[in-house]
Amino acid sequence: MAKIAVFSTQAYDKQFFEKANTQHTFEYFENRLRPQTVNLAKGFDGVCVFVNDRINAETLQLLAEANIKLVALRCAGFNNVDLKEAKKQNIRILRVPAYSPEAVAEHALALIMTLARKTHKAYNRVRDGNFSLVNLNGFIIHGKTVGVVGTGQIGKAFCKIMNGMGANIIAYDKYPSEELKQLGVTYTSLEEVLKSSDIVSLHCPLTPETHHIINKNSLSLMKKEAMLVNTSRGKLVDTSAVIDALRDEKLGNLAIDVYEEEEKLFFRDLSETIIRDEQISRLMVFPNVLVTAHQGFFTKESMVQITQTTLKNIDDYMEGRKSENEVSCEMIKDC
Ligand code: NAD
Repeated sequence: MAKIAVFSTQAYDKQFFEKANTQHTFEYFENRLRPQTVNLAKGFDGVCVFVNDRINAETLQLLAEANIKLVALRCAGFNNVDLKEAKKQNIRILRVPAYSPEAVAEHALALIMTLARKTHKAYNRVRDGNFSLVNLNGFIIHGKTVGVVGTGQIGKAFCKIMNGMGANIIAYDKYPSEELKQLGVTYTSLEEVLKSSDIVSLHCPLTPETHHIINKNSLSLMKKEAMLVNTSRGKLVDTSAVIDALRDEKLGNLAIDVYEEEEKLFFRDLSETIIRDEQISRLMVFPNVLVTAHQGFFTKESMVQITQTTLKNIDDYMEGRKSENEVSCEMIKDC
């Protein structure tokens, strides 16, 4: 039986964990795990964290000093963990590699359809007794070229949805999928994906190589009317470059579920607070931008899967078993 400190807890995390847990002791903290909050974890066997917790070298050193050798991630991405330091400190990092990739892929679809058919505007308009269609003219996906950057689990699920809708799909990934090729997906260069697509959807992980993969230069390659969709990680996109492109009408639509500086904003109710992040404030006033606050994963099915896999990861750690969910330094470049 392990004693685990759960960070970045929301009411729903506690609810799902308490329902599924039969043997471990969890203590829940709303705080994010970062060097300043490691103290809260003293006396625990491990910590359980989410996407915006800061598992940097300093946090890991402090965890090691507190004799904590387990970091259980409640997510797939591990860009917020310093894996080199984890190896040095002999701390095991376990993640939830797959939990309904369809949840994120379907959220990307929801974002695309909202912007394409302006249902968010129609919803407010009709509730206000305004039944006019002026400015609600949209476009269809059928026959459009959809570019997918990263065709792993989520990218693959997304390609299948787009295929079902009759889009032409082109993709960029260093490791093309045979299954997708069979489906009719054409692999090409990143440049070609950016140039030819009506919709570009990002599904690659955040790594030093993909940081700002969408920047001033890549935006200049895209069609002026194109839609950019990011449900992956905020730092894939250079926000100030995208704001410039929107302002200069060089990008048609932007849909984001993730944001470069989301750490200070997302997962919190700031509705009675003055938001001092100029970039998110700027983005939210463009009529052709849709922002959701990292909810792609957030379905009942995913929460059940995340909870079950995390509990299994903790069991494996406590029993000293190897785990296929282990994230190791060898998985990244230059480690
Ligand atoms: P995955 O590991 O199955 O797939 C990632 C794919 O990206 C792989 O095929 C890989 O070869 C490819 N890739 C790596 N570097 C690339 C590059 N430079 N250019 C193009 N492709 C590259 O991961 P996944 O489960 O599909 O998840 C993808 C990302 O989605 C995660 O890393 C995470 O950041 C994000 N995510 C977001 C949410 C959300 O709630 N919005 C939830 C889960 C995951």
